[in-house]
Amino acid sequence: MARSIYLVEMFLKEHGVSPLADFMCAEPILQDTKTIRDKCNPLWVWIGFKLLKNRPRAAQKFRRALHNRFGLTETEWGAMQAYFTCYEAVGVAIQRREWLHYECHRLNKLQTTDGYNAADTSPASLAYRETFDELQRSHEEMAKRLDLLRKAARGFCYTPIGHAVYACHLKRNWHMHPWLTEQCQGAGGCCARRCGCCAKREVRGMGYWVGHCTPACRCCVKHNRLLRPIDLLEDGFEVRFRVRRARNDSYCRNALEAMVWQS
Ligand SMILES: [Zn+2]
Ligand SMILES: [Zn+2]
Ligand SMILES: [Zn+2]
Repeated sequence: MARSIYLVEMFLKEHGVSPLADFMCAEPILQDTKTIRDKCNPLWVWIGFKLLKNRPRAAQKFRRALHNRFGLTETEWGAMQAYFTCYEAVGVAIQRREWLHYECHRLNKLQTTDGYNAADTSPASLAYRETFDELQRSHEEMAKRLDLLRKAARGFCYTPIGHAVYACHLKRNWHMHPWLTEQCQGAGGCCARRCGCCAKREVRGMGYWVGHCTPACRCCVKHNRLLRPIDLLEDGFEVRFRVRRARNDSYCRNALEAMVWQS
């Protein structure tokens, strides 16, 4: 065991873990390099998740060094970018569904009959039925987006950087990383207030969503006295960072540190 750890340390020393080295793998890898990377995958998994199990920081450094050494193919880069784009989209879908759920509950109390009653023509009942239908559509939308997220994850989860995302997203409250919290504060999300909504969100794992406020956050919508969150079908997502970041782009660097490399 001690010898194995020593060998990993030697590897880290030799290959370095400088964030700047990430630029070196901006070029897609050669087929031979990819073959070596993938054939040794069980070894990378064993070292990262077993040997360095109690040393998460060293494990992430190890994955980063491997990523710097091997890199990704064009398709894998695409899958990773798609993963983080879908991630944003899933967040909005989840929070909008939550808002619609509470809104249904509120409107149901206002109508004289209980539940979905097409014969009731009162404004409260009409509003309830409209929101209820929207809630059903939002379930489908969310399932569709989660499916896309998982498909994207399958496109790069077996690579060293994929292992790093997996390890990072498995950590409890990883989304409360100071930089991510700061972004939420700056955008006027719940982290800027005392409600503590973001810290209460607690799902873990790759292919699941946990994160900060989106324009569909129920608490933010209420706080800003808006009538309803953004329309899910018209939101048009653009992820705010590129996974193959540009040199000197500190936003991208910070986003990757928080969402991929933190330990
Ligand atoms: Zn809140
Ligand atoms: Zn919020
Ligand atoms: Zn927040």
